[in-house]
Amino acid sequence: MTGRCRSEFPPLNMFLRLPKRTLLLGIFTACMFCLLLISFNVLLQNEELRDVTSEALSNDRLVHDSKPRLAILVPFRNRFDELIVFVPQLSEFLRTQDIGSFKFYILNQSRRYRFNRGALANVGYLLAKRSSDYIAIHDVDLIPINKDLSYSYPEDGPFHLSSPDYHPQYNYKKYFGGILLINNKQFELINGMSNRYFGWGLEDDDFYARVRAANLPILRPQNLSTDRTNTFLHIHNNQKRDSFKSKEQQDVLRRRDKQTGLSNIRFSINAKHNITIDDHYDCTVYNIELSCNTKETPWCQHNYVRQFANRGPNDEAQ
Ligand code: UDP
Ligand code: MN
Repeated sequence: MTGRCRSEFPPLNMFLRLPKRTLLLGIFTACMFCLLLISFNVLLQNEELRDVTSEALSNDRLVHDSKPRLAILVPFRNRFDELIVFVPQLSEFLRTQDIGSFKFYILNQSRRYRFNRGALANVGYLLAKRSSDYIAIHDVDLIPINKDLSYSYPEDGPFHLSSPDYHPQYNYKKYFGGILLINNKQFELINGMSNRYFGWGLEDDDFYARVRAANLPILRPQNLSTDRTNTFLHIHNNQKRDSFKSKEQQDVLRRRDKQTGLSNIRFSINAKHNITIDDHYDCTVYNIELSCNTKETPWCQHNYVRQFANRGPNDEAQ
């Protein structure tokens, strides 16, 4: 007996031939190494967990610890002349306000389907929500002039800044377009905007109905010293509005949309460009391709409009 074991497996024999003390020391070192590896891994996992949690909590924490962050969501297509005026002017306007950080998201819809302001706002929200606490759904051609127009955090309910009392063009009571501020929690609560409104108009009326149905109060600026001629600048440069609606489209869109919104928006981001205008004013342009189910909303297609345009004005129901 030599105090050493033997094995059928030759490489193992090499180890077994070593003195017992060396063997034990080796095993001990290997164990320590494994222990070290395991604790390092646990540490890493904890770090990851911490990141995920702090991200999930970031909204609540920031509302309380520092000033809420604003994401300016601009549904956009082919309005470059307006954009290069809008970003610098609104940036300057916001610098004079007592608000937290703000960031511009230019939501540039690809050519594929007709323009859809509501769906673009939903996409913008999804892009912005991790780094913002509230959003402004903002037309590119509407610029505030009166310094008393506040872009601060809308705590209690959506704040319709471009109120019909002060909008240069639209003054019907339920007008809800132009510029609207809403906090992230409430935008989620009402499932954002409808995705069905391809073409110009009515998406803001549906949004109004959603807010009312959720019993949120609608707030608007009051008692401004200015009027409809000098509260906002509407730099709408003779842009034609794509306002065609077939009877079918009208029938569907007249009813409040309880099905579509943030929860089921489908899209892809084809590109992202950080742009600086006049050396100082930053914005990010997202090239967005919206999806469309052409069975449910055939009016999303450009040729849907042309198809009716080729017939007489009253033929569409046939
Ligand atoms: N818009 C755009 N390109 C279009 C249609 C609309 O960029 O082809 C965006 C833009 O932000 C615009 C907003 O949607 O300010 C509202 O459209 P528009 O100004 O035509 O409507 P209005 O409120 O003047 O009737
Ligand atoms: Mn306009």
